[in-house]
Amino acid sequence: MIAEVIVDVSTYHVDRPFDYQVPAEWINVIEAGCRVKVPFGARNVLGFVIGLKKETDIPLHKLKPITQILDMEPVLTEEMLQLARWLKNHTICYEIDALQVMLPSALRAKYEKIIKLQAPQSLPEEVQAIFGKRQQANFKEFERAGLLPLLKQLVAQESVTIDNVVKQQGNVKEIRMVKITEDQHLIEKVIEQSSRAVKQRLLLQWMCQHLGEVLSPQQIYDETGVSSAVLEAVIAKGAAQFIREEVYRDPFTKEVSRTHSLQLTEEQLVALQAITAAMEQPKGQTFLLHGVTGSGKTEIYLQSIQKVLEEGKEAIMLVPEISLTPQMTERFRSRFGEMVAVMHSGLSVGEKYDEWRKVQQGKVKVVVGARSAIFAPFTNIGLIILDEEHESTYKQEDSPRYHARDVAIWRSGFYQCPVILGSATPALESYARAKKGVYTLLSLKHRALHQTLPTVFIADMREELRQGNRSMFSVSLIEAMRLRLEKKEQMVLFLNRRGYSSFVLCRDCGTVVQCPNCDISLTYHRTTEKLKCHYCGYEEHIPQTCPQCQSDHIRYFGTGTQKVEEEIYKLFPEARVLRMDVDTTRHKGAHEEILQTFGEGQADILLGTQMIAKGLDFPNITLVGVLSADTSLHLPDYRAAERTFQLLTQVSGRAGRHNKPGEVIIQTYTPEHYAIELAKTQDYEPFYEREMFLRRRSSYPPYYFVALVQISHEDVMMAAEYAGRVADWLRGNLSNQAAIIGPTTASIARLQNRYRYQCLIKYKIEPNLIPVLQRLLAMYRAEWIKQGILMTVDLDPSTI
Ligand code: ADP
Ligand code: ZN
Ligand code: ZN
Repeated sequence: MIAEVIVDVSTYHVDRPFDYQVPAEWINVIEAGCRVKVPFGARNVLGFVIGLKKETDIPLHKLKPITQILDMEPVLTEEMLQLARWLKNHTICYEIDALQVMLPSALRAKYEKIIKLQAPQSLPEEVQAIFGKRQQANFKEFERAGLLPLLKQLVAQESVTIDNVVKQQGNVKEIRMVKITEDQHLIEKVIEQSSRAVKQRLLLQWMCQHLGEVLSPQQIYDETGVSSAVLEAVIAKGAAQFIREEVYRDPFTKEVSRTHSLQLTEEQLVALQAITAAMEQPKGQTFLLHGVTGSGKTEIYLQSIQKVLEEGKEAIMLVPEISLTPQMTERFRSRFGEMVAVMHSGLSVGEKYDEWRKVQQGKVKVVVGARSAIFAPFTNIGLIILDEEHESTYKQEDSPRYHARDVAIWRSGFYQCPVILGSATPALESYARAKKGVYTLLSLKHRALHQTLPTVFIADMREELRQGNRSMFSVSLIEAMRLRLEKKEQMVLFLNRRGYSSFVLCRDCGTVVQCPNCDISLTYHRTTEKLKCHYCGYEEHIPQTCPQCQSDHIRYFGTGTQKVEEEIYKLFPEARVLRMDVDTTRHKGAHEEILQTFGEGQADILLGTQMIAKGLDFPNITLVGVLSADTSLHLPDYRAAERTFQLLTQVSGRAGRHNKPGEVIIQTYTPEHYAIELAKTQDYEPFYEREMFLRRRSSYPPYYFVALVQISHEDVMMAAEYAGRVADWLRGNLSNQAAIIGPTTASIARLQNRYRYQCLIKYKIEPNLIPVLQRLLAMYRAEWIKQGILMTVDLDPSTI
């Protein structure tokens, strides 16, 4: 027998399966979807069996045998293998990348296969000999004894089970953690003792800000810049201790109480009926559920899933960033209890694997998760939902560059089940498809509890400045905040920081301190008093004088959340502020804790970045303040206006969701911009019309498709030359239906010391596009890589 294997060598320029011989004793063991080890060149590499056959064109003596078999049962189903092939063609990626993205990383990392005894009575003698008195044995013992075919039978009879245990030994970062003391006096004492050890003092001062926290050593090195010797010295003095991380395999940190279905409103009922009717039909139908914020979309998701479960099927529920929406997970667990698994990046490798196994073994029926949960290994899917379907986090930016929406629709075709795309502000292309009838449009125009949408007030910050107000708060926002504090109501202050950060600027010559490797300003980090590049990790101390003109008028500029927090305390010393940003949410469960504290009414103001824009549903929030609406408007991206409108509508939707009316104050320097003007009415339709008009005028999606080819090289001439070749080649091979723009420099012209160029392809119909790009990639893989060129092709870039 011969196995077709996709090998894990993605620099190899031919992307196709290779044939290997299946050793006789594995003939009944191996299946398509199993992982194997195979010889490749001089190495022994990982591979996926994608098919088995009896014949090959390759002479038998040239055929090498598979050296090791890693799975008794396939880790990928036939559906997944088909999906991988589709992903490969649809996103133009290596097939190995498409296969790997579907699996939890535990199946890529080091792990150990453990055979667990389930039914000891009926075991053959040779197997009994392996177990002896133990309840479990190692896979290798079976392998050595030549018992794999027998093992396979035992698994089928359920006499034994096989578990992959993620090995964390040998990986110091993962098992050794540092617990910082809770005792500030203790640290102060150690600081006194360490008067001459500068680095130690630096670390100790930093620890004062992190009392009681448990952090990995690496995190501490990263943030403070100290070495392991310094950390160890400080630990020896008692300011912190090494602990072993608990392998905490239950990702749910708290108990939830059960809830039951709500009585639906008329609008909700119409939508639910359309969805459940589609479940009866054997076809994949896509619904766009367009409902204003607070219209009860989640309740529709829950009741649709209820129906799926009654039919004995499974459901996938995607949320844009699950670690940011603990409320959603809680609502699902309170409805479906143990039937729910979660999958997101906040879980440890082991937890992710455990959740994946629960799905694979049919122990759960619902998955709530972020983008990659779309690959949940269910085999009888009845419904797939994408909440906030417009969010850019659904698009993966590395190979395979897939959009979860496309994968959802592919899988719904396979299982002939419906997809729900839900949003208050759908992506323009989704709404356009709904209008064309490709998707079925379902609308919820009213809030579920019949509250009115919040009233929105635009504060013109230019006018404020003219009136002499130099504060970051407009007079109206200050007044509104004062009122809420008096009435003991809660508020959310939102700092729009996308594409915006705190930098260091020379007030004399205007120089902004930049990364030496990238064309990006360095970001100021208050905790470490350092400047850091967010792209390559470069760090330096804040310069005392301007590197350009030597002036000492060089200072930190820009508004971070910490700065806003200080300003709030200046205005309202009695206010209780909770800050939610990357700094305060570093440790596991931090999001949940902050939201719980806020939900319990232990704070008046929740201040944060993008993290707080979506999903929050608290009855006592009556004011939302947007500190800087414009920052996301000026990005060099055709979607900037759409993103801004979506963000403002989302964050406004946090106010007045229950019985108290809500108010929103949006501060801006460009009140006349249509994205801001129309966010005021929170009316999607006029925004859609306006934006579509502009997209049509400049030939952008959804009227045209765009594809992006990026080229980079350490040498600027090489980068420019090859970018020119790409453009020429595209012009020479694509029809004149496609417009090729470029080469131009990328929006970040240099990154990690590589110069970056790009070509944009705009097209409506271009049947040759995929084959042409595939040939371009083949050329690149065969020749250009050797020249140090890096090239990526993205058929659906989320930013350009
Ligand atoms: P969306 O996801 O559309 O923003 P949610 O599903 O969060 O809206 O609903 C907003 C609020 O209305 C929630 O607190 C929810 O419990 C409540 N709600 C939704 N549907 C109903 C209903 N049919 N009856 C009563 N309350 C409802
Ligand atoms: Zn200067
Ligand atoms: Zn950099």
